[in-house]
Amino acid sequence: MTVEVFAPAKINLTLHVTGQRSDGYHLLDSLVVFADVGDRITLTKAAETRLEVSGPCAAGVPTDARNLVVKAAQLLGVTAHIHLHKNLPAAAGIGGGSSDAAATLSGLCQLYCVPLPTPEAVLSLGADVPLCLKRGLVRMEGIGEQLSALGPSPGMHLVMVNPRVEVPTPTVFKALSCKENPAMNWPMNPTDWVLWVAKQRNDLEAPAVSAEPVIADVLAMLRAQPGCQLARMSGSGATCFAIMEDAQAQQNTVAHIKTAHPEWWAVACKALTGDQFSRETT
Ligand code: ATP
Repeated sequence: MTVEVFAPAKINLTLHVTGQRSDGYHLLDSLVVFADVGDRITLTKAAETRLEVSGPCAAGVPTDARNLVVKAAQLLGVTAHIHLHKNLPAAAGIGGGSSDAAATLSGLCQLYCVPLPTPEAVLSLGADVPLCLKRGLVRMEGIGEQLSALGPSPGMHLVMVNPRVEVPTPTVFKALSCKENPAMNWPMNPTDWVLWVAKQRNDLEAPAVSAEPVIADVLAMLRAQPGCQLARMSGSGATCFAIMEDAQAQQNTVAHIKTAHPEWWAVACKALTGDQFSRETT
């Protein structure tokens, strides 16, 4: 039996760094949605774990035990042939590795009829892995372990752009100057939520821009597009997203960016609303 799972990109619509624990971990307050663009993982029972990686963003992704999908199988104590089709750039602030790990956990549990590991064990794979087991609109607090499901995500015409520079998350946190900022101005106003999101921030944007100034070029280009309601960086970058007024503005923006910067990664996407998680095939 084979199980196919989808590992969507996560987009931090807001990301506030509210403090730091004594062990160095940063405390976050973030509103997250998942995109209908992501990696695809095929899992087949096998006596030994073997990983193959393919796809447009496969270059440089580890195929050994450093890969989070292998770590996910090890955590469950099961073995499988894993095919990972990478559509998402790595070290890009859209949770590529974390989402792969979450999807692999979910798929292997289905394949072997075993329950998910404890929340603490899932968190040991990475701070964003518990988050990536969720769908819809999610508020993430603490170091990633406090998750509140806020219901289905609002319909959005999104664009994601990555200038193809890898930004390691620790580099960005090290460059963060103010480590205690106000939390989100909660509750979100559901009637004018784009305006509400626009009033929040991503505290990692400034340190990421200082590490990779091209991120500022991406944001400026997105903000200059007709119909752009908001442009911001996701996670620790370098991927930026824009919320566009309508499908036409969304398509025009992607076309414009692909022409102006064919070397950048630019996609149109929408937010996943519900449980589009896995598909079983035989
Ligand atoms: P986040 O948004 O959670 O901060 P990220 O986008 O910064 O995540 P990842 O895509 O998880 O980062 O990649 C970070 C590093 O993890 C990569 O440089 C790569 O070497 C390693 N890695 C391990 N497993 C994977 C995977 N399945 N896909 C991509 N990178 C992986």
